Amino acid sequence: MAEVSEAQILDVLKTIVDPQKKADIVTLGMVSGVAVKTGHVAFAIEVEPKRAAELEPLRKAAEDAVHKLPGVLTVSAVLTAQRQAAQPAPQQKGERPLLPHVKSIIAVASGKGGVGKSTTAINLALALSQMGLKVGLFDADIYGPSMPRMLGIRGEPVSPDGETLLPMENYGVKCMSIGFLVPEDSPIIWRGPMVMGALNQLMRDVEWGELDVMIIDMPPGTGDTQLTMSQNVPLTGAVIVSTPQDIALLDARKGLNMFRKVEVPVLGIIENMSYYVCPKCGDEAHIFGHGGAKAEAARLSVEFLGEVPLDIAIRETSDQGEPIVASRPSSPHAQAYRDIAAKIWDKVGLLQAGKKGPKISFE
Ligand code: ADP
Repeated sequence: MAEVSEAQILDVLKTIVDPQKKADIVTLGMVSGVAVKTGHVAFAIEVEPKRAAELEPLRKAAEDAVHKLPGVLTVSAVLTAQRQAAQPAPQQKGERPLLPHVKSIIAVASGKGGVGKSTTAINLALALSQMGLKVGLFDADIYGPSMPRMLGIRGEPVSPDGETLLPMENYGVKCMSIGFLVPEDSPIIWRGPMVMGALNQLMRDVEWGELDVMIIDMPPGTGDTQLTMSQNVPLTGAVIVSTPQDIALLDARKGLNMFRKVEVPVLGIIENMSYYVCPKCGDEAHIFGHGGAKAEAARLSVEFLGEVPLDIAIRETSDQGEPIVASRPSSPHAQAYRDIAAKIWDKVGLLQAGKKGPKISFE
């Protein structure tokens, strides 16, 4: 059977009407990126981010309509954030330095998703705050912003002057996340350039006040967004969170190479879900072997900052919005995070002293 054509697809999509704008999505210019390959069709529907949840039925209807075309096996329609929103922030804002009152900025990164990067970021932020530092936490994990949930913060940030936003706050840590502005389960797919535009603007428009340190929960992975972000934000350093498996699979190494490429000092690697602690008997099981990360870190000439076990208490506390460092400060896991935070802070101190001190160059 002949492959379905783009024209046929656009034709049926003309039957899909945006209920609010009272016109079809093709005429409204909302459809883009139509791709067809051996009966598999994909396309994007561009929407304003805040309408994403409301337009889910429209997305589904568009998929169903295309599916009825002869020769179509599968259809995947995604809602993407509208192109016009990708414009950078207005000029006068673009000229202000980014985060001028923040003394140090640490990116928490990972080679891929699901390794516990956000959990680590929040517990480190809390540990630094318990050291008496003024801490901000910026959730740049725009694909899966989890900070509102992990910090147990509900509601929307307020803007006293209509221009800047006040950060949200819990447990003494100031926080901003795209998750406060769009629903957590909103099916938005951000385009590369738009992500940076949105993140830049969000970072700039927040009244952080004076901060000793800002922790950035980076988007997972080592693609263009992560690279651009590492270049645009004046990072003091980065830490890489990895599970024992990814250290073996070289995902952590990709993160390391990315920061090295843009000359951001890598402060070290944290091994998360390092070993399993049985909630019943407290026994430790070293499922993925033990000590591999430490050895690998040494091989890659990067500091091994410490390990955090796989323990249901860590998951439960962060899912409940009560991260373990705040809710169970005397637990050994909270202590593990505090030890790692102290090492990181020492390194930040050294880096900053180095910047101020005389430069020694070797010929
Ligand atoms: P990422 O930011 O890398 O995608 P998350 O921090 O969201 O990962 O963690 C993914 C899931 O794993 C979450 O449900 C979290 O609670 C859980 N998790 C993270 N670290 C641990 C740990 N050390 N022990 C148990 N569960 C963990």
